[in-house]
Amino acid sequence: MNDRLRPAENPLLAPWDAPFGAPPFDCIRPTHFPPAFDAALAERRAEIAAIVSNSAAPTFDNTIAALERSGALLKRVSAAFFHLAGAATSDEIERIERDIAPALSRERNAMLLDDALFARVEALHQARDGLDLDVEAARTLERWRVAFARAGAGLDAEKKTRLAAIGERLASLGAIFGQNVLADEKAFALVLDGPDDLAGLPESFVAAAAQAAVARGFPGKYVATLSRSSYEPFMQFSARRDLREKVFRAFVARGAGGGAHDNSAIMRETVALRAERARLLGYPSFAHFRLADTMAKTPEAAIALMRRVWAPARAQALREAEALQQTIAAEGGNFALEAWDWRYYAEKRRKALYDIDQSELRPYLPLEAMIAAAFDVARRLFGVSFVARDDVPTPSADARAWTAFGPDGAPIALFVGDYFARDSKHSGAWMSALRDQQKLDGRVLPIVVNVMSFAPGGAGEPCLLSLDEAHTLFHEFGHALHGMLSDVAYPLLSGTNVAHDFVELPSQLYEHWLERPETLRRFARHYRTGEPMPEALIERLGAARRFNQGFATTEFVAAALFDMELHLVADPGAIDVAEFETRTLAAIGMPSAIATRHSAPHFQHVFSGDGYAAGYYSYLWSEALDADAFEAFEEAGDDFDPALAERLKRFVYAAGNTREPEAAYRGFRGRDPSPDALLRKRGLAQC
Ligand SMILES: [Zn+2]
Repeated sequence: MNDRLRPAENPLLAPWDAPFGAPPFDCIRPTHFPPAFDAALAERRAEIAAIVSNSAAPTFDNTIAALERSGALLKRVSAAFFHLAGAATSDEIERIERDIAPALSRERNAMLLDDALFARVEALHQARDGLDLDVEAARTLERWRVAFARAGAGLDAEKKTRLAAIGERLASLGAIFGQNVLADEKAFALVLDGPDDLAGLPESFVAAAAQAAVARGFPGKYVATLSRSSYEPFMQFSARRDLREKVFRAFVARGAGGGAHDNSAIMRETVALRAERARLLGYPSFAHFRLADTMAKTPEAAIALMRRVWAPARAQALREAEALQQTIAAEGGNFALEAWDWRYYAEKRRKALYDIDQSELRPYLPLEAMIAAAFDVARRLFGVSFVARDDVPTPSADARAWTAFGPDGAPIALFVGDYFARDSKHSGAWMSALRDQQKLDGRVLPIVVNVMSFAPGGAGEPCLLSLDEAHTLFHEFGHALHGMLSDVAYPLLSGTNVAHDFVELPSQLYEHWLERPETLRRFARHYRTGEPMPEALIERLGAARRFNQGFATTEFVAAALFDMELHLVADPGAIDVAEFETRTLAAIGMPSAIATRHSAPHFQHVFSGDGYAAGYYSYLWSEALDADAFEAFEEAGDDFDPALAERLKRFVYAAGNTREPEAAYRGFRGRDPSPDALLRKRGLAQC
């Protein structure tokens, strides 16, 4: 095969004529990307040069709108590439990613650090009150100015050169960090052979483990892996304490251990470079730099929320640990509760207290029914409906596509779901957009993707979800709706391009509708018998909702506090990140039997790119919002209250970044959020 295709033969550069202009994944090969990136970057450079060299005085249209129009090809190629890099990667894609990540950072910096371009933006910003801009245009100008300022526009040449070098290096480090974690995950397989090894494991796990064994070259046996969809049920159900310890130790050793995939040096360099970048930009620390453009505004505000939650969460976790220790003793166990015991004994206690066995829930939560439930909630809240289609090239054989229709019956988006774990997919779940909604030059409909890592069902069996996995599906679908319902003019303001401590509001809020009795009664039906989930079980689920919340809150807040404290260090020098983590956890009194949700060497939110660096707190921040927001529906006495749903759509799901997050929230709720709802939701409120 001839890999040196001419541009006209490169499907990435040819017009995309599939429905919705979806990427031609069926024709795209990794070799198409490097020349496509070259062409796309050249095209954007030319577009930017045309803006800069325009002899006319800057206007909104010839500068800001022109910036918004620029880089269309680059966005298209990047979206297709990064989708594959996350969900269907290969050695070849990984190699390209290592080159392209720093190149994209270099190009973006060159644009944002271009003095002449910044001068035009700055002139418009100075004159903004006299420009007669509508609200969205004014916001777009403001957001562009923020982007330039945060990149270092206006600084002297030496500082700008250094910032560019830092950005590029950080992009490389982020890519390698994630690849190291994935490599460690792929290298581990615990082969289970015979009934002793399978003790306690439910049918659904065994079926998935048999599939995994085939994929890993152990046909006829069973394999436990380190993907979350294997790790969590294994830790919950395996009666083999020795095997749980083995899997736990491998899980927490990802990216550590001093071998070829050790992330220590990468973390050290990353943290030092981030701090240096913040200093160059005039901030005392990376955390201060990061938080300046969020709803929280300062690290202190974020820490205040975390500490408010930490004390009651820790106290609750210690009570939970005592109860688990009693369960161990009652079974005749003569050992202290360890981190690899928590999930197992918590599961037993949950069963004893509420008669809920997670493995008994699964038959009522088939993937198909949960997708239907997520769609139905969107219909009832926002009038959106979904129709499957099979004429769209999907990025992998497993992925499926639907057209989303708005209340008036017109299409509003293409939705792609890619639900199953595979070795070529990074673990976890996420939403991304192959194309953002905008209507700068006519309406452009979004193409939104949800990626999950569920274990497929065994031969001839459907995929059955745990309750947590069903939550993940609703969560990511909430993000997807934020992209699909977006109704803004400018690409920069589109969909999920909002402050990172606000972006989890639409996703976490959506999860509330999963466990509402109305949803469960209709959709949680036994996959074999079609019987609805028994009413008594639905009731017990409600009662059990706050079970183990001390643990869940503690493992999360510990990771979030570590992330924030690490990035508050003004001059990290040659910091030992793992040691810093140990010290931070000791200082807050981390209970010994709880492991932090993500330990530093595999904390991808924080080190695989800047996405959630000094930003992991934002899930908690957003939860303070979602808990408070859902109480509005409870106060109204109707989970689908039409007036509230309308305001929710207008100010949150459809609004993109057209307003400051606090104004968006007030628009929906009529007041500022209160964190008390969060403590009530997690059962941590002081009685
Ligand atoms: Zn999310």
